[in-house]
Amino acid sequence: DITVSGKEEEMKRIIAQHPCYSKEAQHKFGRIHLPVAPACNIQCNYCDRKFDCVNESRPGVTSEVLTPHEALERTRQVLKEFPFIKVVGVAGPGDPLANDATFETFKLIKAEFPEVTLCLSTNGLALPDKMPEIIETGVDTLTVTLNAIDPAIEAQLISHVVYKGKMYKGVEAAEILIRNQLAGIKMAVDAGLVIKINTVMVPGINDKHIIEVAKKIHEMGVYIMNIMPLICQAKFADMEPPTPEERQKLQNACEPYVQQMRHCRQCRSDAFGLIGKDLSQMSEERRNTIKM
Ligand code: SF4
Ligand code: SF4
Repeated sequence: DITVSGKEEEMKRIIAQHPCYSKEAQHKFGRIHLPVAPACNIQCNYCDRKFDCVNESRPGVTSEVLTPHEALERTRQVLKEFPFIKVVGVAGPGDPLANDATFETFKLIKAEFPEVTLCLSTNGLALPDKMPEIIETGVDTLTVTLNAIDPAIEAQLISHVVYKGKMYKGVEAAEILIRNQLAGIKMAVDAGLVIKINTVMVPGINDKHIIEVAKKIHEMGVYIMNIMPLICQAKFADMEPPTPEERQKLQNACEPYVQQMRHCRQCRSDAFGLIGKDLSQMSEERRNTIKM
């Protein structure tokens, strides 16, 4: 079938040029994160919301928020100067799906740069509801942070979710979040998106359970898993992060089920360039030539 193989070829190209989905691509191709999404619809216990979303970013820094038009302007300047950047993503500083600006931005980018890969990361709460818009906008790669598939465990990681205008807490909140994450991941797989799952490893809460998450996402057709170490802040400020050895052991245990991303740098939500060499941390003077 020509359409199926055409789609497969396209997915292969997208993966080969995405620095997070392909280990080889990280040295050749870059990405730009556009910080257009400040609001969030859940509260993770490891997030104090003063900084970037921990799910896809480096905490302890605050990314300035851009409007969609400012984001387009930054993209123009950055892509002109750094043509090896093939991926334009929205990853915060809050949850991209809780902000209409995310889609406004993607539409502006797609209209001007139809060839770039659009990349979105989310906690997944709004995923089933937003899936039609995600597909219509032409998002290619999707990251969902999925920390547990057992509501009793997830309830220890979040304090509330706000879904359809109502706040939920405890196990009830966790059930809604997990149900939507799994339903949304399935819809995204069916729609042909390439999917990465980020899982924050929290010793004593979900560390022993993450293997079950790996098995589940393997069954669902997820492409790659990124187990991230807990960064201890907010309610979890006094907790211990996993050691690199503990995380590696867990990655090895999950590898038979789903490919492991081991080169994540926990970038800022305004990062751009190659993932190991962030141009967003370049000198102020150099940055100012790119800023509006
Ligand atoms: Fe913070 Fe991200 Fe969790 Fe929202 S989803 S509470 S921004 S870590
Ligand atoms: Fe890629 Fe990790 Fe950076 Fe996200 S935080 S862009 S997954 S390297």
